[in-house]
Amino acid sequence: MTTEAPVRVEDKLYQNRYLVDVGNAHIKVKPHTKPSPQLLALLKVCPAHCYELNSNGQVEVTPDGCVECGTCRVLAEGGGDIEWSYPRGGYGVLFKFG
Ligand code: SF4
Repeated sequence: MTTEAPVRVEDKLYQNRYLVDVGNAHIKVKPHTKPSPQLLALLKVCPAHCYELNSNGQVEVTPDGCVECGTCRVLAEGGGDIEWSYPRGGYGVLFKFG
């Protein structure tokens, strides 16, 4: 009996391709001095690791590798911590299956 190695999420994400809409980020973090619990949660829940803390302890987003799963939208848009919209037509993630 053979056992296959588990597939890592990072390896699957590497298969995707992205067309970045330079200057038109589709997710924005509201300016803040101290991040809310929802913003801090985004550091852990985003499967593409688009959120990170800067040197001032504020949460920043770099949505270039976003897979448009909507997790951060559900968690943080309602409270006003982020603005979220789909990328303009033709931009964003191109999924590769298989
Ligand atoms: S939509 Fe999903 S992949 Fe994109 S930034 Fe939010 S949590 Fe990350």
